[in-house]
Amino acid sequence: MNIADENLECWFLTGSQALYGDAVLRQVDEQSREIVAMLDAGPEIGVRLTWKPVLTGASEIRRACVEASSSDSCIGVVAWMHTFSPAKAWIAGLDALRKPLLHLHTQAHLSLPWDEIDMDFMNLNQSAHGDREFGYIETRMALRRKTVAGHASDRGVRERIGSWARAAAGWHAAQEMRLARFGDNMRDVAVTEGDKVEAQIRFGVSVNTYGVNDLVAAVDDAPPAAVDEVVEQYEQSYAVAPELTVGGARHESLRYAARLEVGLRSFLTQGGFTAFTTNFEDLGGLRQLPGIAVQRLMADGYGFGGEGDWKTAALVRILKVMGANRPGGVSFMEDYTYHLGPGEPKILGAHMLEVCPSIAAGRPSCEIHPLSIGNREDPVRLVFDAQPGKGFVVGLLDLGDRFRLVANDVEIVPPDAPLPRLPVARAVWKPAPSLATSAESWLSAGGPHHTALCTAVGIESLEDLAVMAGVELVRIDDSTTARSFMRELRWNQAYYRLAQGLAR
Ligand code: MN
Repeated sequence: MNIADENLECWFLTGSQALYGDAVLRQVDEQSREIVAMLDAGPEIGVRLTWKPVLTGASEIRRACVEASSSDSCIGVVAWMHTFSPAKAWIAGLDALRKPLLHLHTQAHLSLPWDEIDMDFMNLNQSAHGDREFGYIETRMALRRKTVAGHASDRGVRERIGSWARAAAGWHAAQEMRLARFGDNMRDVAVTEGDKVEAQIRFGVSVNTYGVNDLVAAVDDAPPAAVDEVVEQYEQSYAVAPELTVGGARHESLRYAARLEVGLRSFLTQGGFTAFTTNFEDLGGLRQLPGIAVQRLMADGYGFGGEGDWKTAALVRILKVMGANRPGGVSFMEDYTYHLGPGEPKILGAHMLEVCPSIAAGRPSCEIHPLSIGNREDPVRLVFDAQPGKGFVVGLLDLGDRFRLVANDVEIVPPDAPLPRLPVARAVWKPAPSLATSAESWLSAGGPHHTALCTAVGIESLEDLAVMAGVELVRIDDSTTARSFMRELRWNQAYYRLAQGLAR
């Protein structure tokens, strides 16, 4: 399972023009290499930046943009106008560019050499106006992009580029995502429905249904040696309840859970799927609802949504890729129940079984308990509290004519007291700016009850992703008031209708 592909790269394009002569262009060339080396030196960007020769004319600019667009490894383009690059030369190239674009507004020198500055220096270092020319043509062409200003030695600048590069990796993963849906939608639920064709056009994700008995066949075919190996991993990684261990009264249930994992993993691997959904109304010949299997697949980077929720499954997968190799985690989540007082109101989030251990605070325990729904044998699951810290929850909904992302900044906190009788993994969080404003805003936006909870990347990355996708993102944060949020929704309603136009 590949969530951090080392072959991926972002191209660094530098704009100039022939007017300055070879000597100046050699300096431009040298300085842009230095900028790339500076950006690449720290860990902030996460994706390799590949320097490309300085561009001075329309046809080479167009060729570079076409090559970036067709490259399998290039996931985005960073553009910097070192000197002055008349922007008419960029029209054909930018028109052909099909990869996410970041406009870096920087310059080679940090400090102005006050005593020595002369006209040669001025001619060489003029991105202060060269980039304004580029910004004009981007805006004139209505290009979706991110603009970052500052010196490459500034960690904040590198972090903002990194946030975009992670979004670009997530976007890249979405383009060819194959999502397996076992069964269809469940029990007349509305918000988990949606336009799957539009989702493929908009995000790239291909969602298709598979009969659950195809999965049953893969589970039945699971080789006993592979099952043994997974059982051993359970015993090494988790505090396994004594009744489930070898020789325990219910060890057979653990073995079946491991068989489910082996079967599910092999089905997903063989089909090239990176995300999936299950449906407890449609379990066919499965003896348990997959619990620990789903949890561990999510921990390995698979996207998941319960109850046929393919939109959340896709979102979890995209965020998994965006957060690869970072501390923190990403999980399927559901707002379950509230603590309204005394003290600060909080949300208890969980699901029946399927919360990802990447957000766990400690060593999960592996337990078996009855499940009142699903009409099957008791499922094995991992139980834990979520690691306290900052993060966000995000949901994706289909408004009929378009998609909307709703996000909320949250702070995960320890539960007020242990939850000894709650047999599922859970997270307790304080939503910004308060539970009441958060919930009123979320409901007003039509946000779903299923979300992806993310502590692995900052919410700026999510905002970058929304720009790449051209999808509305409304964010509920510390500055949100119910009044301002309602206004934003109304204005967005008009804006996105207009922006859609009559044709794509
Ligand atoms: Mn649910």
